[in-house]
Amino acid sequence: MQHNGFDASLPSHPCMDDRVHDKIARIHLPVALKCNIHCLYCERKYSSPKTLTPGPGTAARIISPREALRKTGAFLEEWGAESIVGIAGPGDPLANQETFETLRLIRNRYPAVRLCLCTNGLNLPKSLSTLRQLDVQHLTVTINGVKPEIVSRIQSRVRKGRHCLGGKDGAELLIRNQLEGLERAASLGMFVKVNTVVVPEINGQHVEEIACTVADLGACVYNPMPLIPRGSFKHMTRPSHAFMKELRKRCGSILPVFSKCKQCRADAAGIPGKELHSCKMVVTA
Ligand code: SF4
Ligand code: SF4
Ligand code: SF4
Repeated sequence: MQHNGFDASLPSHPCMDDRVHDKIARIHLPVALKCNIHCLYCERKYSSPKTLTPGPGTAARIISPREALRKTGAFLEEWGAESIVGIAGPGDPLANQETFETLRLIRNRYPAVRLCLCTNGLNLPKSLSTLRQLDVQHLTVTINGVKPEIVSRIQSRVRKGRHCLGGKDGAELLIRNQLEGLERAASLGMFVKVNTVVVPEINGQHVEEIACTVADLGACVYNPMPLIPRGSFKHMTRPSHAFMKELRKRCGSILPVFSKCKQCRADAAGIPGKELHSCKMVVTA
């Protein structure tokens, strides 16, 4: 069966369905500073949206939950109630109490707003009851592999309590929590997308296995994304358009694929890929 995003059950969400990607706006509220794992491609940067420096992990600055609430009000007024209000970093949203405080403030002020979150999934199992209470309906979990020997080459350290686990032990914990979190979130009725950062030398041949695993656990859509060569992986090659196209085609026979991701900033706002105007709003609001 070929899906490629044309699935009636997909939510009307710019990150989950190719057909509405350029029709519905989203705002990312950069309230989440800290992270609890170490991805070797990660580079968190602070730069003005006016420079349009792309990439997850990039934001002009961290804002407080109160400021996030004010920005949300201005955003919804400009883009309408169907828009998505999300938290995507620049660290891991679920590793920061400010995320929950922000979601609570927004849910109380705007009871019908569509809330969304991106996470590496390490803290997902323990956060699900709170996310459920706050009626967060959309979730993206980045899963770069389902085998510890592969994941440990991409994500080298994982926090466990006050300690860090490295190598396969860390990767095992991360994978366990990601898959448990995904399955439970889907069974609670959340729309869960899975992202995979494709590093051809490491997980390029493993992507279909990830797609099968997450489809079985209830992911509604899959987004394999090409590596942005940064951080310790800056010497690596970004997969070609042809490589990604073929990969998406193969994964599309397993579950719906989202293929229009712009790998946005953690403070992006507006229609994905068309944020010049809306970024101004984020700076000045
Ligand atoms: Fe960076 Fe995100 Fe990985 Fe954390 S989960 S290290 S913020 S890319
Ligand atoms: Fe939601 Fe993540 Fe898309 Fe932002 S990038 S709208 S938080 S799925
Ligand atoms: Fe959508 Fe941008 Fe998120 Fe990609 S990074 S899923 S385009 S908001």
